[in-house]
Amino acid sequence: MIPVKPSKIVCIGRNYLAHARELGNELPPEPLIFLKPPSALLAPEGTILLPPQSQQVEYEGEIGVVVLERLSHVSVEAAGEARLGFTCVNDVTARDLQKSDGQWSRAKGFDTFCPVGPRVVEGLDWRTLEVRTRVNGSERQHGRTADMAYSIPVILSYISSVMTLEPGDLIPTGTPAGVGRLASGDTIEVEVSGVGILRNSVR
Ligand code: MG
Repeated sequence: MIPVKPSKIVCIGRNYLAHARELGNELPPEPLIFLKPPSALLAPEGTILLPPQSQQVEYEGEIGVVVLERLSHVSVEAAGEARLGFTCVNDVTARDLQKSDGQWSRAKGFDTFCPVGPRVVEGLDWRTLEVRTRVNGSERQHGRTADMAYSIPVILSYISSVMTLEPGDLIPTGTPAGVGRLASGDTIEVEVSGVGILRNSVR
């Protein structure tokens, strides 16, 4: 079961220096935001479907923030005290289409490209969260909120100065270094400390 029902999914790109560099980029001068459509959501244990349009589908394990109260034009301080939930997200990306299209709606927006779950946990300390990604049991990514270029309150304040965040909205906060390809038959796991493990298969 999908544990969230967001009106929108607002993602952060290039929020870890080592990941920005591994793809030949620098950190953005302000938070870099983009949208994934809610139609991309996939439940835990669901199957990520590799689309015929792409030859290079990659995982991006991320810490997901679930907004639990309406946020509009909030300060960084207020965002740090807002009611938040946390979950695991896989920001699945067709890397070849991301490069060729220039903007990212297609590359990030296929059905099944936003696995989320297995649950939403309130009351965790956003300063000390960790995320790990495993493919077929072997660890590929490990990141900590302490290593983010833009902290979770900074991200929420920034987004809320553009668009109102509604209860249930989902914010994948960026992926650490170590992204890589998915192939049919793979099992992919994203684990966030205090939340649990999001596990999906690939076909
Ligand atoms: Mg991402």
